[in-house]
Amino acid sequence: MAISKEDFQTLIEKLTAQNVTLVAVSKIQPLQKILQLYELGQRDFGENYVQELVEKQSKLPTDIKWHFLGPLQSHKVKYIAPFVNIIHGVDSLKLLKEINKQGKSNNRSINVLLQIHLATEATKFGLDNSELDTIINQISESPLTHVKIMGLMGMATYTDDVELINKEFKSLKQLFDLYKNSNVENLHFEILSMGMSADYKLAIEGGSNMIRIGTLLFGARGMKDLL
Ligand SMILES: *Cc1c(COP(=O)(O)O)cnc(C)c1O
Repeated sequence: MAISKEDFQTLIEKLTAQNVTLVAVSKIQPLQKILQLYELGQRDFGENYVQELVEKQSKLPTDIKWHFLGPLQSHKVKYIAPFVNIIHGVDSLKLLKEINKQGKSNNRSINVLLQIHLATEATKFGLDNSELDTIINQISESPLTHVKIMGLMGMATYTDDVELINKEFKSLKQLFDLYKNSNVENLHFEILSMGMSADYKLAIEGGSNMIRIGTLLFGARGMKDLL
C-alpha cells in the first residue's frame, strides 16, 4: 500500500468532515490490496475494465459498492448491471437506454453520472454543454424508468497549471448547479464526481463531493498482465 494506515484514516476523517466520498480506484491492483483497504473500512471501489470488475466482484465481499469508471461499451452493460453501484462515464443517450434496459431486466434502478468533457486533451471523452442539454431534455420528456441520473463527472487536464485546473472544475461545478437547481424532471442531482490523485484538493475546493483516487492509495499501477 502506498498510504499508511494512519494517513488513510486522517484522509477519511478530513473527507467525512467535508462530506466528500472517496472512491478507491483499484483498476489493475490485486485483490489483496483491495482487501487491505476494505479492512480499514473502505467500501467504495472503482474499476475501469468490465471483465476485471466482474472477476473481482465475484471474489470480494458483497458489501463493496462498485463504481464503473471510464468508457463503457453498450454491449458490455449486461455484465455489470446486476451489481454496479454507479456508472460514472455515461456520455450518450444510446448508452443510457441500454443501461435502462439492463436495469429493467435486473429489476433494479441503476445510478449513473453523465461525463462532461472538460480537459484540453482530446483523449478524455465526454459530453459538451449542448450535448448534455439535449440528453437532459430527452430524458425529461421520455423518462427512463430504470436509470437514476445522480449528477456529473469530469476529468481536468493533466497539468501543473493550477489556474487551468481550477477553471475546468469551476465550469463543471457551475453546470452541476445549473441542473441541480433547475426544475427539470427525472434528475436526481446529488453527486459531483471530480478529482483524482493529482488534483483532488483543488477539486474539493471547487465543490466536488466524490473523488476518485488510485495512485495515491495503492501506488503506481503495474502492468495489467501482472495481475
Ligand atoms: C484511473 C482513474 C482514476 C484514478 O487516477 P489516479 O491518478 O491514479 O488517482 C480516476 N478516475 C478515472 C476515470 C480513472 O480512469
